[in-house]
Order: sequence, then C-alpha cells, then structure tokens
Amino acid sequence: MSATFDRGINAFKEVLDAPIASFFSSCVHCGLCAEACLFYTETGDPKYTPIHKLEPLRRAWQQEYTLLGKLAKLTGLAKAVTDEELAEWGPLVYDSCTLCGRCSMVCPVGNDIAYMVRKMREGMSAAGHAPEGLVTATTRAIQSGSPAGVKWVTVQAQIKRMQAEFGIEIPVNQENADYLVLMSSWEILNYPEYLGAVGRILNQAGATWTLAQDAYEATNSGIQIGASDLARELVGRIVGAAERLKVKCVISPECGHAYTAIRWEGPNLMGRPFGFEVKHILEVLDDLRRAGRLKLKGTLDKPLTYHDPCQISRRGGVYEQPRTLLNQLAPQFKEMADSGVMNWCCGGGGGVSANERAEPLRMTVFKRKKAQIEELGVKTMVTACANCRVVMEEALEHYHMNVEILGLTELVAEHLDEEQ
Ligand code: SF4
Ligand code: SF4
Repeated sequence: MSATFDRGINAFKEVLDAPIASFFSSCVHCGLCAEACLFYTETGDPKYTPIHKLEPLRRAWQQEYTLLGKLAKLTGLAKAVTDEELAEWGPLVYDSCTLCGRCSMVCPVGNDIAYMVRKMREGMSAAGHAPEGLVTATTRAIQSGSPAGVKWVTVQAQIKRMQAEFGIEIPVNQENADYLVLMSSWEILNYPEYLGAVGRILNQAGATWTLAQDAYEATNSGIQIGASDLARELVGRIVGAAERLKVKCVISPECGHAYTAIRWEGPNLMGRPFGFEVKHILEVLDDLRRAGRLKLKGTLDKPLTYHDPCQISRRGGVYEQPRTLLNQLAPQFKEMADSGVMNWCCGGGGGVSANERAEPLRMTVFKRKKAQIEELGVKTMVTACANCRVVMEEALEHYHMNVEILGLTELVAEHLDEEQ
C-alpha cells in the first residue's frame, strides 16, 4: 500500500465529519438526486447518480464508524477501499461533478451532496488522484498568484487599455477605499471590459475603490481541487491585502466559485471573521441602485435570457438582484424553464473546465443548456460568471449555435447615464 494511499485513506477518515456521517446514515436510496444531475440526465448512465459518486467515501465511513461496518471489516466480509478504486473514481468525483448543488436541493432528507463531493475531493487530492489540469492550475496559483499564470504585468496592460478606452483612472494599492475590486483569470485575459465596467459604475456612484497588486486574482483552485491548505493560502492573500489597505468591502467578481471561496468558505478557512464585508458585484450593483446611486438610461430591446451561475444563485442566494437589473434594462427578458435556484449548470464549474480529460463529457452535458436556449428561441444570453461564459461560448461553438453571451456588469455599464 503506497504512502499517498495511506494519506488518502487517512484524509477520508479526517473529512468524515458529523454532517457527512448524518448524510450517509439518512440516505433512503430513493434515487431522486439522479434526476437533478445533468451528468445523469444527459447520459442516462446510472454511475452518474450523485450519491453513487461517493461510494468509496461511504464505505470508508461504514467500515470506520458503524458497528456493522467494523464487524464486516474485521471478519473480512467488507470490501476494502483500494488505491486502484480511488484512481477509477477520479473521473466520477472530478469530471462529472461541477459542485452545482442541484442534487442537494431535491434530496428529501436534506443531504448536501455537493458538500460531500468537496470533502471526498480532499481525500482524493491527498491520495494523489486529483486531475493533472487542476493540480497544475493550483501550483501556478501558489507560485504566480493566478491559476492561469496571469502576472501583474498582464493586469497592468489591461489597466492601461481600460483607462485609455473609457477615460477612467484605475487606482492601485489605495488605502481606505470603499471597495477592493478582484478579478478572475478569465476576466483579466478574455473580458477586461469587466474592469472598465466596474470602474465606470463605481466612479459614477461616487464610491472609492482600488485594485491590490498582491491580490488581484479571486479564482481559488484550492477549493476546486479539494486542498484546504492551498485554498487557505489563496484566500489569505486577499484577506491580507484587504486588511492592509483598510477597505470596507471586497467585491467578488463575475466568477461563481470565487464567491463561494471568499464569501462563504473564506472565514472558515481563515478560522476567524473578516473585518470587512465581502459582496458579489451583483449585490454591489443592487445596493447602489437601491441607494439611487446607479443612474441608468435606455434599454437593450431584444429577446434575451439569464443563465444563473450555480454558486451565485443557488449556493450564494444572489438571484433576485440580476432580475431586478434585467427587468429594468431588458424589456424582452425571458426566464428559462428552470431558473433561479433550480437552474441547470453550464457543465464546467467546480474545476471541470480546467480538467481537459472532462471535455467530451462537458460537451455532452451542455445539451441541457442547449435545449433550454432553443426552447426560448433567444439569441442573447446574459450571465454573471466569466467561467460559465467561457464554458458556454466554447459549447455554443461546438454545437454551431449563433448565440451571444453578455456579462451583466458590462451590460449595466453600457447603460450608465454618465451625464447625470
Ligand atoms: S453537485 Fe451538481 S454536478 Fe455534482 S452530483 Fe450534484 S447535481 Fe451533479
Ligand atoms: S436524493 Fe438523497 S436520499 Fe435519495 S438517494 Fe440521493 S442522497 Fe440518498
């Protein structure tokens, strides 16, 4: 038995906390979670039933913490969890789960299966079974501050571009600002207009804000891979910058899991509450709107829909704010059949998009979103997560669909009444 395997099994034992034990013991094997998971609905393969993805963890729990399981293990009747089995299980735990949490919504006994998958990833990661793409991304994040290897010099180039394009000043390392603005790797590389949009909106609202040279990246691949120590280091950089600069609020960007990492997991990872607020950009936009500080004009008058990023709408509770904004800006806004907290995932969250091995499966499960878009007949979709946007743009290309995707913050900025 290898040392990494021992580490994995020991990590399994460590992650088996009270919620996991109660979830496994209360499962009534109804199978309802299968119908909620797009990996099952789009393939029809029972191995993608959410609770089944956790089978090695369930057996570890049974054999370590239940009387019957312990007896079965002692008498040799129980099948031990092996290193080979963990290797086989990698694609089920990493490729076919986006941590979207839809299964958790339908479980009649309240099992949070997404939480259980995250915990199982911690054991898998310790046993050396995390996918290469995610391991590389996390190593790059620790070394360079960004999972995509984006360096500060790249951010500086985008700052210059946005300052020239929009005629705004983008402050860096300013103390005592209202807001510290973070970005995801995708926003820095693919959608720098997000930075320009945030700057224009905050400037118009009369808010003070800043970027931090040592904490510009919100993406946290430590959370995706299941490595809490790395996740803590990445969150710690943001907390350190926010406290050093004495900002009032950190704005999580249009990135779903970054919001989960800094807003919900951050204080747990750091072991203490923060001395500043953390808000998603959509929450900030809504705050400004309610305070009368977001002055908008005109509308985008074409049929469009909104894709709810799982970590923002379902897991984060930010689903009314985008609708309030869209109802004001887009008279032809239409909801998809399953929207809000019961949205269907883009298929690439939870680290799946950084995992090359998962690409064919990711394209297969996009058929659910494709059907939703086709049912509405729209050619424009708005979202608030750059990862969803990249994943869906690739899949739309794959399926030769002529649908544009817009970021909601950019849409708001395009309708600012800058004369007021
Ligand atoms: S969290 Fe989402 S992707 Fe993962 S098993 Fe549940 S429904 Fe499927
Ligand atoms: S829905 Fe809940 S109770 Fe039913 S099989 Fe899935 S985890 Fe078990």
